[in-house]
Amino acid sequence: MRKFISTRNKNNSVTSKEAIIKGLSEDGGLYTPTDLQDIKIDLNKCLYLNYQELASYILSKILDDYSEEELNECISKAYTKTFKTNDITPTSKIGKDFMVELYNGPTSAFKDVALTLLPHLLKTAYKSKGLDKKIYILTSTSGDTGKAALEAFKNVEDTYITVFYPLDGVSYVQERQMNTTTGNNVDVVSVEGNFDDCQRMQKECNDDIRVKEACKNVQLSSANSINLGRLVPQIVYYFKGYVDLVKNKHIKLNDKVNFIVPTGNFGNILAGYLAKQLGCPINKLVCASNKNNILTDFINTGIYDKNRDFYTTMSPSMDILVSSNLERLLFILSDFDD
Ligand SMILES: *Cc1c(COP(=O)(O)O)cnc(C)c1O
Repeated sequence: MRKFISTRNKNNSVTSKEAIIKGLSEDGGLYTPTDLQDIKIDLNKCLYLNYQELASYILSKILDDYSEEELNECISKAYTKTFKTNDITPTSKIGKDFMVELYNGPTSAFKDVALTLLPHLLKTAYKSKGLDKKIYILTSTSGDTGKAALEAFKNVEDTYITVFYPLDGVSYVQERQMNTTTGNNVDVVSVEGNFDDCQRMQKECNDDIRVKEACKNVQLSSANSINLGRLVPQIVYYFKGYVDLVKNKHIKLNDKVNFIVPTGNFGNILAGYLAKQLGCPINKLVCASNKNNILTDFINTGIYDKNRDFYTTMSPSMDILVSSNLERLLFILSDFDD
C-alpha cells in the first residue's frame, strides 16, 4: 500500500484514505506522495480513455487503498452531469497556444474539478474505516475555494463545513455566492485580515486545545489544497490536456509541452509537478504570479520573505504570501528532509 508522509515528520506515514480524512497532519505538516516516479502511466492507453476512465486509471495508481469500485463510484458521482461538458476539461486553441479549460464546473472555478470529487472520497474513506464521528471541514478562501467547497459539501450527510474568507479580500460576486449558499450544514465567516490570516487560523484550529475539547466527536478536515484529496484529482487534467494535444495532432506522443499555471497556494502547479513525476511529458511548469509575486521571487532568488506588502488585486485567488503547497515541493526536492 502506498504511503503518504508528513512534510514535518517523515516517520508519520498514512494511507491515502487516512490522509484525506485528516487533511492536515497533527504535526502541522502536509501529507505528501513518495516515489511517484515508480508508477508507470501508459500514455498510449490514455489516448483511448474518456475523462472518467482517465481519472480512474491515474487515481487508482495513487489512492491505492480505495478499491476500484469505490473509486469508480466516487468518480462517477463527481463527474456525471455536474460539468457543462462530459469532457470535463476540454482543450481549446488560443492563437498559437492552447488552454485546458478548467472552468466548466458548477461554480466556474477550476477548483470544481477536485472539489466535486473530494466529498465522495472523504465519505468513502470514512465509511470503510467504520468511523462514526461527524466530519467538520474548515476551509479558507479568497473566493474560489469557498464557493466551490460550499457547493460540493452542502447537504452532505454527517458533514459540516465552515468557510473563512478575508473581509475585504474577495470579490463582491463571490462574497454573495458564499453568503447565499443553501444547505443545512454550511457556515461562512468573514475575517478581519487577509487570506494568510484565514489559513493560519484554520491551521491553528487543528492543534488548539479548546477546539479539540469542543470537537470530541468530530473529525476536523480541510477542503483546501493542503488536503491530499484536493491535490491528487488535479493531476488528471494535466494528462487530459496532454492527450488532447496528441489526439488533435498538435504534437506527437512523447513530445514535451510547457504548462503555464496561475499560482497562489501552489496546489495546481504542484499537481503538474506530480503529473511530470508520473511520466507526463512536461518540459517546464511556469509559475505565473500577480503583484503578490513572492513565488516568482523565491524561484528566481531562493529567498522566501513573507514580510512584504500584501496587495489586493483583481485575481484574489492568487493574493497569497504563505503558499502552503510549496512546503510539499521543497520536501520532495530535498529528498524528504523534514
Ligand atoms: C485557486 C486559484 C488560483 C491559485 O491556484 P493554487 O492551486 O492555489 O496555486 C489561481 N487562479 C484562480 C482563478 C484560482 O481559483
